[in-house]
Amino acid sequence: MLELKGIAASPGIAIGKAFFLDKEDFAIKRYTVPKAGIKQEFSRLDAALRDSRKELNELREKMVRSIGLKNARIFEAHLLLLGDPIFIDKIRRTIKASRCNVEAAVWEATEEITDSFLRSKDQFLQERAADIHDVGRRILHKLLGREREILADLKEETIVVAADLAPSDTAQMRREKVIAFVTDMGGRTSHTAIMARSLEIPAVVGLKDITQKADPGDIIVVDGNTGTVLVNPGEDVLLRYKQDREKFIEISTGLSQLREQPAITVDGHRVSLMANIEVPEEVGSALQYGAEGIGLYRTEFLFLNRNDLPDEEEQFEAYRNVARLMDPRPLTIRTLDLGGDKFLSQLNLSQEINPSLGFRGIRLCLELADIFRVQLRAILRASAFGNLKIMYPLISGMDELRRANRILDSVREELSSQGVEFNRGLEVGVMIEVPSAVMIADLLAKEAKFFSIGTNDLIQYALGIDRVNEKIAYLYEPLHPAVLRLVQRVIAGGHNAGIKVSMCGEMAGDPFFVPLLVGMGLDEFSMGPFSIPAVKQVINNTKLSEAKIIAEKAMNFSTAGEVESFLKAAVLGVGASAP
Ligand code: PEP
Ligand code: MG
Repeated sequence: MLELKGIAASPGIAIGKAFFLDKEDFAIKRYTVPKAGIKQEFSRLDAALRDSRKELNELREKMVRSIGLKNARIFEAHLLLLGDPIFIDKIRRTIKASRCNVEAAVWEATEEITDSFLRSKDQFLQERAADIHDVGRRILHKLLGREREILADLKEETIVVAADLAPSDTAQMRREKVIAFVTDMGGRTSHTAIMARSLEIPAVVGLKDITQKADPGDIIVVDGNTGTVLVNPGEDVLLRYKQDREKFIEISTGLSQLREQPAITVDGHRVSLMANIEVPEEVGSALQYGAEGIGLYRTEFLFLNRNDLPDEEEQFEAYRNVARLMDPRPLTIRTLDLGGDKFLSQLNLSQEINPSLGFRGIRLCLELADIFRVQLRAILRASAFGNLKIMYPLISGMDELRRANRILDSVREELSSQGVEFNRGLEVGVMIEVPSAVMIADLLAKEAKFFSIGTNDLIQYALGIDRVNEKIAYLYEPLHPAVLRLVQRVIAGGHNAGIKVSMCGEMAGDPFFVPLLVGMGLDEFSMGPFSIPAVKQVINNTKLSEAKIIAEKAMNFSTAGEVESFLKAAVLGVGASAP
């Protein structure tokens, strides 16, 4: 048995046979065609292009129907590539110059362009390499008379193993047949991960070399809760995971019954549970799992994986759709948080040595104010259609908050003078994710309507640990006493000024941390929709008076390990005591 550790991208447990998406063997034969046969190769190419176009159009339609227009954009890009004169001319020229068969010419052109894109320093071109490869493979399938939609035709329950998955692949999956994904590449916020979560299929990404270590047909166990993947486990392990899977399904079904219930402690303390979403399509999941609102809408996903910027209308429509679906529940829109690990190729920004300490979040928006203004206009216009709030990411000092607010004020004035309707009382909050913001939380609280603690970044900056570097991942400790003191300070800063404090980093979705955070006084928890029922269940079984004691005692430990043992003992009622 082989055990691999990756990034838990979408929860759930699946057991099934491996299906390799990237191990198709094309075995392209190259042969010389007689001069008189060149015309026929050209017409074979035209027919394959026509069939590929038809297929892409059909896929686009299917995708629009199943998960919405925005996700269909990938097919538009592929359709453009199919008609790209550089690509097509290259194929034609190769056929003519070397009198080879069309398959060989398509393969050569695809490989050549893919390679040059991959070698390019331009991130945009690098990202397009996978698209060219995808389009080339589609044409080859047509030429070889092989259907590309193998994923759509799967006959048995399958676990898809791939280096990475393109949205065009996921769109074709039959949900009842594809029971999980595992990929070499990707992080929690990669497209594949987001897609898996919205399809509610367990997934583990970032496994680095599962495509090398497993083979087609292997029995694979995917634990999307912990990020563990087992290849060909023994009968006893398999049995254990089958039991875990049953338990997981039972718990999830049981928990979903909690949807209509409020999150309230045994002694009557009310806490708000919100959802984090990346794309509007996740609103369904948020409501299904009982979110009382959206605590974090990561708008940058509207900007990624495309070669232009979304204009005001496109943004307005996206925000308005979510606002309407959530109304009257609150929708907190975070303004663009690009940079760091979310790189935007359209802006042609220079590469940085320390991107997470660099030109990102609010810094980028204040500098590229035109882009910021367009987004603020779109958000303000959408505010007429629901209960919207705005929050700024990565605020590190009061000047940034004031500068952002000045731009917002000027956009408000502009809209007023144009007679455009918007909510004049819209609340503006600040994400607390830089230690300097924690230290001045008392000051920021005077000019912000709410705080939302972004622990993913706060931990990275407070402990000096790159959140995407797997080598030092062991140092990424949410229960580090420094982190607890920072969280405590933010809550105190907010409450002293009479504003609410929320948390939208991953820490908020861990049921195990709930008594500690409730005891510390956190007002609102925002998390991936799926985590809501489990967190609610813990809250509903917690006493505020006891949680306060737990929080107080937890502050006395010196290491994350000690805090963890204490919490385990407190939550499960065994072992360690406070110093
Ligand atoms: C955070 O940093 O905790 C957060 C919620 O923002 P993101 O993960 O998008 O950086
Ligand atoms: Mg962040």
